[in-house]
Amino acid sequence: MKALCLANHGGPEQLKFGDLETPNIEEGQVLIRVRACALNHLDILVRNGIPAYPVKFPHILGSDISGEIKEIHPQAKKQLESLNLKIGSQVVIAPGLSCGSCIECAKGHDNQCDSAKIIGAATKGGYAEFCVVPAKNVFPKPSHLSFEEAASFPLTFLTAWHMLVTRAQLKQGEKVLVVGAGSGVGSAAIQIVKIFHGIVIAASSSLEKLELARGLGADFTIHIEKEDVFKKVREITDHQGVNIVFEHVGPATWEQSFKSLARCGRIVTCGSTTGPTVPLDLRALFSRDISILGSKLGTLEEFNKILQLMEEKKLKPVISKIFPLSEGRLAHEFLEKREQFGKVVLKI
Ligand code: ZN
Repeated sequence: MKALCLANHGGPEQLKFGDLETPNIEEGQVLIRVRACALNHLDILVRNGIPAYPVKFPHILGSDISGEIKEIHPQAKKQLESLNLKIGSQVVIAPGLSCGSCIECAKGHDNQCDSAKIIGAATKGGYAEFCVVPAKNVFPKPSHLSFEEAASFPLTFLTAWHMLVTRAQLKQGEKVLVVGAGSGVGSAAIQIVKIFHGIVIAASSSLEKLELARGLGADFTIHIEKEDVFKKVREITDHQGVNIVFEHVGPATWEQSFKSLARCGRIVTCGSTTGPTVPLDLRALFSRDISILGSKLGTLEEFNKILQLMEEKKLKPVISKIFPLSEGRLAHEFLEKREQFGKVVLKI
């Protein structure tokens, strides 16, 4: 099969387009003919090399996959039949891997599974013509979406849903500051808040991205380099602050984000793209009943909910640019420039 392999840790030049043997399915697995795979910041982390994601070379990146079912292990048939899926069905893949038998999995917290992993980081992913995944991760592709659109939502929408709905308990009409609004998770967050009829204040360092955020439903925008986020939030919210801050940037935005919270506000984060450590004044935390919430990916049940909302056209994937698989190296360079609004996708 054709694949874009990661030959070693390093820059985009380590991605080599070539031939690799098609993988074989094992117990409970399904072989997917990959049609599209979206890029994530995670791909760059794994490509560069970080201790949390050790890989064997040649590795195949790619967590967000759509395609067709090519082969099903006999023991996986029942699982797929319950979703009306068979060979040739068009599918989308939930990116989180879990054991299905530990205490957290039994509670439905499969994102917190003892052996939780992500496709394309811990296992070979979707930068290839074929890929092997567990049957329980295979779901029907929303019928109106193209393969590229279907590959564009799993990781980001799952992450944003788990952050806002499950962790921060977003309520109808609440005010939410979405930091890094131009990112994949940011554009998902804007849409999710609007489903709850909330007020979105989108913050970004790019005027162009703020315009696009408005197009997705953002009610107010803040240019973080030209405006004071805290002052602007107070102005917009009549000095109250926001109920929720959607964070994933870290030290570069944390202080402004934290100050922008209303009493009983929740700040929820899924990432630390500008570094791992932030200052925290405990007095500001306890005196105003503030909650700081961590959030990691999402569960299979939440993935199902997102699929339903996609099918109902209440959520829509946002694509920035599509590259052919053979030009994956250029796609990585494009993603690293951080100029995109929405997802960068490989067509396979
Ligand atoms: Zn488990």
